[in-house]
Formats: sequence, C-alpha cells, structure tokens
Amino acid sequence: MQGVCILGATGSIGASTLDVIARHPDRFRLVSATANDNVEGMLAICRAHRPARVVMRDGDAAQRVADTVRAEGLGCAVEAGPQALCDVARDADAQQVMAAIVGGAGLAPTLAAAEAGKRVLLANKEALVMAGERFMHAVRASGAELLPIDSEHNAIFQCMPSGFRCGATPAEDAGVQQIVLTASGGPFLNRSAASVADATPAEAVAHPNWSMGRKISVDSATMMNKGLELIEAAWLFGLPAERLAVVMHPQSVVHSMVRMADGSVLAQLGAPDMRTPIAYAMAWPARIDSGVAPLDLTAMANLEFSEACREQFPCLGLAEQALRMGGDAPIVLNAANEVAVEAFLGESLRFGDIATVVAEALRSADPAVPDSLDAILAADARARELAQALVQESFAPAGGRSQHA
Ligand code: NAD
Ligand code: MG
Repeated sequence: MQGVCILGATGSIGASTLDVIARHPDRFRLVSATANDNVEGMLAICRAHRPARVVMRDGDAAQRVADTVRAEGLGCAVEAGPQALCDVARDADAQQVMAAIVGGAGLAPTLAAAEAGKRVLLANKEALVMAGERFMHAVRASGAELLPIDSEHNAIFQCMPSGFRCGATPAEDAGVQQIVLTASGGPFLNRSAASVADATPAEAVAHPNWSMGRKISVDSATMMNKGLELIEAAWLFGLPAERLAVVMHPQSVVHSMVRMADGSVLAQLGAPDMRTPIAYAMAWPARIDSGVAPLDLTAMANLEFSEACREQFPCLGLAEQALRMGGDAPIVLNAANEVAVEAFLGESLRFGDIATVVAEALRSADPAVPDSLDAILAADARARELAQALVQESFAPAGGRSQHA
C-alpha cells in the first residue's frame, strides 16, 4: 500500500490522480492533499477520500475548510500556509508525491519531496524549468524516484531502455540520439501570429484535444508550453538543446518519440487522457488500469507531422533561446510568462503581447546560475516585478494600447 500526497489536489491533474487512486484502493491511499483557496473542491476531496492532512495555502480558506471538516466529523487535520505545503511533501506517511501545483508556487514543496527521497510524480514542469540543476541534484542525493507526468516526458520515459532512471543516466549513454516532442498546436494551430494577437481568454483556453487548467491551456495556445517542455526534457533526460526537437502533430495520439543511434524511432501512443501517464508513474514498473478507453487505431484516419513555425509561435523560440542562454534565463522566461498569462486571463494584456513581455524580460537575464533556492526565488521575484511593469507599459487602459498596438 502506497501513501500518496497530492500537491494541487483540486486542479485538473489532481482530479485525474484522485480518479486513479479511487480505482485502486488496494494499492493507493490518499494521505494528504493541498490546494490554494478552493474550499468546496477541497471539502469534496475530504468527504470522498478522508486524507489525514489537508493544507490550504490561503489562511481564510483553511479556516473555512477546518470549520466544515469539524462540523461533519471528517477527521482531517487542516493546516495553512506555504511552509505547511513543504511539510506534507516530506511526511513519512506519503511514499509518493504528486507535484501538481501550477507555476513557480510549486517549486519549494516539489523540491522538498525530492530532498525527502520520495517517488516524485512530476507534473509541475515550472519547478524544473526554474531550478533544474538543483532539483536533479536533490534527486540524486536523496535517491528519490523521479517519474515524469507530462504526457510527452512520460511517453519518452516509456520508450527508454528499462534500466534508465531520470537523474542517474544521461539519455545519450542509453543509445538515444534525439528526443522528439510532439505538439498539437493548440487552438491556434492554423492561425498566423497577427491574426490571433487580439484573441480572447475564452478562445485561447479552448484546447481541441486536452482538458487542462487555464494557465497551461494558454501556454499551449502560445506554445510556451512546448518551450517549457523542451527545458524540462533537457533536465529529465540529461540532453543538450541540439538533441531536442519539436514536431507538430495535431491529433495528439503519438505523445512523443525517441530516435535511437541505430535509426529506430520509438513512440508511445494513447488517447489524450492524463490518467494514462499518472497510472503508469504511480504503479511503475507495473502496469495497471487507468480508466482510459482503448485507442481505436482503425478510427484514426491520419496521423500528421509537420515542422513547428517560430514566427507563428514566438514563445517557442523564446524558450529555446532561454535554454541556450542558461544562467537565470529559464527563471526569467518562466516568471515573465506567468505574469503575462495572468494579465492576459485578467484581460489586461493582449494575447499577442505575452511574447513581447517575455522577450523584453529575457533581455535582463543573468548568465550566472543562481546557486541556492533563495537566489532562485530572488531571480524569480525580480523577473516578476519587471514583467509586471512591462505589462502596465504595453496596456494603456483607455483602449490606447501604446507601443504594440
Ligand atoms: P490547475 O490550475 O487545474 O490546478 C492547479 C492546482 O494548484 C490547484 O489545486 C490549485 O489550488 C493549486 N494552486 C494554484 N496556485 C497555488 C499556489 N500559489 N499555492 C499552492 N497551490 C496552488 O492546473 P493543472 O492543469 O492541473 O496543472 C498543474 C501542473 O501540471 C502545471 O504545472 C501544468 O503545467 C502541469 N501539467 C498539467 C497537465 C494537464 O493536463 N492539466 C498536463 C501536463 C502538465
Ligand atoms: Mg505536456
């Protein structure tokens, strides 16, 4: 029986993880769950799964959850604040930690789980983008098992030779020549950058194949998501930028591919449902039912592949630039993108200006790699402040959108 902690339990990945846990009560038990401020979402989890510990980042939300937990006699201990997020990630009762907080907010608790030697189920790609070196060092030092949840990276992991472990062996030593990440292109696959510059949040989050949280849905529309995934892949598989490629694949059936030294190309296929990578990582090396419908091969008319266009999706090129720059550039990229996406979702930045803000912020990047968690968080805070100022500059309230209109 494996105890599971879910960081970000009320989100999209959280819900899929709870579904897999519920299918296998003989294997998995939810011991702790965390959320930002979603009181009703967390109460539903408490009623269904009775975790021993619950953490709400927001203090008022924690109080409201605690009141109802007591009134209904649900028996969950409720804690509040960012420190408690790290405490549950280290809890001895949890052998597995699902890292599914969105954004940089997930870094400290995800790192805490890695340092505590857990099986880390990594969905929170932003943590690895911000702190790749530190994170992989923690995995090696503690003997943590790092299993990718992102569908592309999970697919690649499944294609690796059976002895491969993230953080232990560079993929090159396993005969890997190149990793090919597939990208659906999101809702704006066939649109020019100019034609989507004024797209609305509702249009941007309407992903054709995947149902996901709002931030990653916008990242998919700009293809920043694929860019963050390139950086994520570089750390997980120990490969330089030249050995990582992106190919457009609108059907989202081939989740990614690995080119081997002998010319073989290995791929993993499946329906676009995150329960497959989640069940794989939770049960690894065993295979268990995930609840995902079988893939109907004869119903698929065509599987298409084409080049990714950096003019159409400038955020992909910016992420590639940050990967090559190194230093704190990936931190700046991620922070500026989070600020810009939030502003876009709050209708105070145009869709087309997300890339402009990120490009401008990247000019402030420092070639030195921050050497501690505090230094990483300081670089993150600086970049957020700069991006915030850039958002204000590029969006004048009276509809007069200054320099980028
Ligand atoms: P989501 O928005 O649906 O859920 C986010 C979760 O994080 C919620 O439980 C929320 O309460 C919590 N949270 C948000 N801000 C927080 C904060 N400041 N402090 C503590 N908790 C906070 O997001 P999601 O789609 O489930 O994505 C989660 C992560 O998984 C992201 O990093 C995303 O890139 C990655 N991911 C998601 C998918 C997917 O299909 N949804 C696929 C691959 C990777
Ligand atoms: Mg992905």
